[in-house]
Amino acid sequence: MLTTQLSKGNAYDVALENFDTAADVMELNQDTREMIKYPERVLTVSVPVRMDDGRIHRFEGFRVQHSTARGPAKGGIRYHPQVSLDEVKALATWMTWKCAVVNIPFGGGKGGVTCDPKHMTQGELERMTRRYTSAILPMIGPDQDIPAPDVYTNPQTMAWIMDTFSMNKGYSVPGVVTGKPISLGGSLGRNEATGRGVFYTVESACEHLKMHLKGATVVVQGFGNAGSVAAQLFYEAGAKIIAVNDSTGCVYNRNGLNIPELIHMKGLCGHVEGFPESEAIRAEELLALECDILIPAALENMIREDNANAVKARIVAEAANGPVTPAADRILQNKGIFLIPDILCNAGGVTVSYFEWVQDEQHLFWEAQDIYNRLERVMKTSFRDVLKIHLDRKVPMRIAANMLGIGRVAEAVQIRGIYP
Ligand code: GLU
Repeated sequence: MLTTQLSKGNAYDVALENFDTAADVMELNQDTREMIKYPERVLTVSVPVRMDDGRIHRFEGFRVQHSTARGPAKGGIRYHPQVSLDEVKALATWMTWKCAVVNIPFGGGKGGVTCDPKHMTQGELERMTRRYTSAILPMIGPDQDIPAPDVYTNPQTMAWIMDTFSMNKGYSVPGVVTGKPISLGGSLGRNEATGRGVFYTVESACEHLKMHLKGATVVVQGFGNAGSVAAQLFYEAGAKIIAVNDSTGCVYNRNGLNIPELIHMKGLCGHVEGFPESEAIRAEELLALECDILIPAALENMIREDNANAVKARIVAEAANGPVTPAADRILQNKGIFLIPDILCNAGGVTVSYFEWVQDEQHLFWEAQDIYNRLERVMKTSFRDVLKIHLDRKVPMRIAANMLGIGRVAEAVQIRGIYP
């Protein structure tokens, strides 16, 4: 699998390094660092599942609450062969700063099961999801910790989690997860929210850099939920998406790919490879293409010390979590590339998750346009807040975003103090 071959390194080391870098610039005192740097709660669970062939396979699952200082823990659940406790800890840490950057009243959490969902049937996935939910049940709840979709989980997965949790309680609890199907109390606009948020932050970046989106060339690495929606929105805005890839291969057309048709084909066949009017290129070539906007929308550690020099984009917009390592960050920065860091760029997903949770709690649902308007306001305000720190303090965008997020969490723990 392409993404597996490319991804190396420990994401949790990256998360800790990013924290220290921002905390040093902020001159954050040692006591506060001790209180906010590490996960509050970590759970590893064994998930036995009866497979379709009759045998029992044991999967390993995790749920990490990094912080509940500003509200319930919030963050997705990932199903992927590479899921490890360190990866989940890193992703939970990033969720804490992300929720704080967009100023929603949540802390950070994440979950995952080490599995290969592409080689599992619906029945196996359902049984695994329900058993995993049962195992993490004491930890989750609408006021405690609220899971959502992440890599290779989707509204159906959330429906199973909601149902398992609700059957244990004896009544329906829609607010225990976000990213649910609309019929179960999901929110309009949640499915597209991450990609839409990426689009809004890139619009803000273009405005700042005095670049035109119309006619801009875009490369999208990863054509899942975030990447495909972002590609569609850029296409509608008149940008040219010249290359995209997924785990099966990369497709390239200098004059721009027809994104609606590509999404249609991916929906039918499950891959982008072999798309008409495109040329197949290698993953390394895709990252090295000359373009205005590069959107890494797959997994962590995709742009590293060994390939960052080849990047020729003007803007790198991190739709994925942690796609650029700290060493690569420094290289991109020296090349004058403008980075929109993950905890800002992809925060649209959790922002609409927050809207979904608010609607569930109120039992009152909003219209799609209302959600888009609110999302645009949150993303563009957050972009301005981060940009201001970047310009005032003369620090890279990633450090600026971390400073904003860490600063808000630090303020919360300082005011709360320690109990008992
Ligand atoms: N998995 C998404 C993320 O990494 C969304 C999390 C959520 O909506 O809670 O931001």
